[in-house]
Amino acid sequence: KLECLSPSHHASRMLYNSCPVARPDMLNVHLIPHTHNDVGWLKTVNQYFYGARNDIQHAGVQYILDSVIPQLLADPAKRFIYVEVAFFARWWGLQGEAVRRAVRQLVSEGRLEFVNGGWSMNDEATVHYSAVIDQMSLGLRFLRRTFGECGRPLTAWHIDPFGHSREQASLFAQMGFDGFFVGRIDYQDKAQRETLREMEQLWRASGSLAPPGADLFTGVLPNGYNPPMALCWDQFCSDDPIVDDASDDNNVQRVVKYFLGTAASQQEYMAPHLVLAPGGGVPYRPGQRGLKQVSGAGREGALPWPPQRNQEENQDPLSQPNVPLQPKGAMEPGD
Ligand SMILES: [Zn+2]
Repeated sequence: KLECLSPSHHASRMLYNSCPVARPDMLNVHLIPHTHNDVGWLKTVNQYFYGARNDIQHAGVQYILDSVIPQLLADPAKRFIYVEVAFFARWWGLQGEAVRRAVRQLVSEGRLEFVNGGWSMNDEATVHYSAVIDQMSLGLRFLRRTFGECGRPLTAWHIDPFGHSREQASLFAQMGFDGFFVGRIDYQDKAQRETLREMEQLWRASGSLAPPGADLFTGVLPNGYNPPMALCWDQFCSDDPIVDDASDDNNVQRVVKYFLGTAASQQEYMAPHLVLAPGGGVPYRPGQRGLKQVSGAGREGALPWPPQRNQEENQDPLSQPNVPLQPKGAMEPGD
């Protein structure tokens, strides 16, 4: 049994060992089922949580967690990440002891993983650094009190803030995150990074702290917080489900071929890892349909690394963002 509350237990050891082993000779496509829940945007925090005023925006955060947890419990292969503790703490407060015990087990096994872990996913453009520290402290303290070391996020995850500041990255580095993923960057910056294969970087985020005090691995997601086109299996999306039985509608080969093509077209990265993020903003409700399709999305085939043409195989563990960040040696990377 994992001892999350033991000071000797290190969360990273558990989390880094909880996902399928990466292969250095292949492009490892990490499918990370996620949701991003604004702590107040078009609706109030209460309206978002309860799903009120769906005439303004169809969004009810409690139903996201209500639908994901049973799916995780039903299948040990499934994974999910969660970000905004303002909503999670509220949901937690409504659960009975049986659900809490089950969720603690999911967290201890790394199947439900917290990323970022602040009260919200804060803005970076107009905030004062003290507010960033305060709201991160509030969320992280809840996770520590509730889940011990196993609840400690290893990955910073700012997939929706509009632009990114060096100071935010510096703060994240000093908070002890192993890496940082961003979604929205300027389109010209993104185009240049794609051309130069600079979608990942080691961000030296402070001019005054001695390296590596504020150095932080930072990756730009290829599609923002969205899944690749035609691969959205949320209940509000209209993409076809995967049909893999003997039916006339069997579409596995077509989906796999399309998936491989999509992965191959997004190889603007130096490392043999590509993060794809099925999920999205607040309306996303990744219950049975979403997780079922995601877990079936790429069981067949592999794309060798470095990239080659006309390959017909792939490997894509249902994954979490910390996996590409694993310390060398643990992962035996080829980069
Ligand atoms: Zn947002």
